[in-house]
Amino acid sequence: MAEAFQLYIDGAFCNAEASATFESLDPSEGKTWALMPKASAADTDRAVRAAYAAFNGGPWPAMTATARGKLLYKLAELVARDASIIAELETRDTGKVIRETKAVTGYVAEYYRYFAGLADKIEGATFPIDKPDMEVSTRREPLGVVAAIVPWNSQMFLTATKLGPALAAGNTVVIKASEDGPAPLLHFARLVHEAGFPAGVVNIITGFGADCGQVLTSHPLVARVAFTGGPETARHVVRNTAENFAVTTLELGGKSPVIVFDDANLDSALNGVIAGIWGATGQSCVAGSRLLIHASIHDEFVARLAKRAGEIKIGAPLDMATEMGPLATLKQVQRAEKLTAESIAAGAVLVTGGKAKKGAGYYFEPTILLAPTAELPCVREEFFGPVLSVLKFKTEEEAVALANGTAYAFAAGIFTQNLGRAHRLTKKIRAGVVWVNTYRAVSPIVPFGGNGYTGHGRESGMDAIRDYTRTKSIWINTSDVPMADPFVMR
Ligand code: NAD
Repeated sequence: MAEAFQLYIDGAFCNAEASATFESLDPSEGKTWALMPKASAADTDRAVRAAYAAFNGGPWPAMTATARGKLLYKLAELVARDASIIAELETRDTGKVIRETKAVTGYVAEYYRYFAGLADKIEGATFPIDKPDMEVSTRREPLGVVAAIVPWNSQMFLTATKLGPALAAGNTVVIKASEDGPAPLLHFARLVHEAGFPAGVVNIITGFGADCGQVLTSHPLVARVAFTGGPETARHVVRNTAENFAVTTLELGGKSPVIVFDDANLDSALNGVIAGIWGATGQSCVAGSRLLIHASIHDEFVARLAKRAGEIKIGAPLDMATEMGPLATLKQVQRAEKLTAESIAAGAVLVTGGKAKKGAGYYFEPTILLAPTAELPCVREEFFGPVLSVLKFKTEEEAVALANGTAYAFAAGIFTQNLGRAHRLTKKIRAGVVWVNTYRAVSPIVPFGGNGYTGHGRESGMDAIRDYTRTKSIWINTSDVPMADPFVMR
């Protein structure tokens, strides 16, 4: 067994209550590779109380916004320094290929830099008020204890989009790493400690839904819940926050369309579709899992896609040459198998893939399903795996109707050379992010999030700061004349 991981609560590393642990599996082998601390309800409560104490007293609330920003810059440098270590831990614990975890972790440092820079730019306003002698202004204040909950995929990235704005704005945070693959965040706790954040400002725990997630999201001292995960869990989270009325944002799943018109640069579109569905083995919230393709180029494009699918290097995720690794859990493989079989039984045509690999590890083949109708399970439900559903369209209107024909509304890709059409579609498509002639591009500067079953709230950009602050309105009577007695008529 390799490393010993611990919880990080109130500025100290500790075991879970009664030293409880759970086994973390290496998805490329399906074998236990490390033991993780299993936070109990009492551990979770302790983390929240530490964050609450740090929000209300000690050095953190007295610190200037500029000083908070400097701590975030330091954290950014440490993330950049340890990017390779974190990437290897993430690859080991989640099966995400090393070429992706290295690239993403390196870029995560930019998120902390961006929010470090924003810390002292969170401004209020003054008003040309309609009452005499009044000076009225607003101030944006932090909310309090933030509960940040992330799923297994891209935990470093999904944490940065929450922790960065939360700390920049002066909140304190309890991060709950996913029980599937928490290693990168438990190492990240060491960097938070090294950066020198005051005790309790950032707490990092891991554990399961009932003991840890539920206690955290319903805790009376939690003011804000930032949740990324699946819609079913989100329903629990929303019910939990009925207890504490925490301000809540939800970043959930997707069934994002990539629309390829007959005038598109097909080489570029092919790469966009591949990046969208087989990058990260399809385990991406913005996976482009529905290809909507103009009927006139359907057969040629699908043939090229199928050829490329057959050439993808599938293998050990720690090997830099590997392009597609395993899924994170056995449950994910079983879900992909079940949805594929149900879709074929309902009329989908299998072009390539469709099977789990025999032997060790949670591998599933890159898969293409032709969908004669939009009612099939493969068109409606999120796989969170490498399965692409293909639908044909003939007109722009049909493409828009198909694109919008799902309860999710996260991302969309449009491949066309027609500028007017690109503009028209960016308006008509129901999504939080629309990419034209590109796919899966993200930046700390640009808001990120969806609508409908994808949830609500925006992470990254200035919008994120707004979600981690509240407005206080301040009225000052500047007149020397005392306030009139309200019960004396003039
Ligand atoms: P999940 O919903 O099962 O788990 C997410 C987190 O919620 C985990 O940390 C889990 O322990 C916790 N949790 C479980 N029960 C809870 C409860 N009762 N209360 C509070 N927390 C609880 O998600 P997953 O299966 O790990 O991840 C896959 C899902 O995440 C997919 O649907 C995917 O689309 C979504 N996702 C969304 C984004 C985004 O930015 N919108 C990014 C990545 C993943």
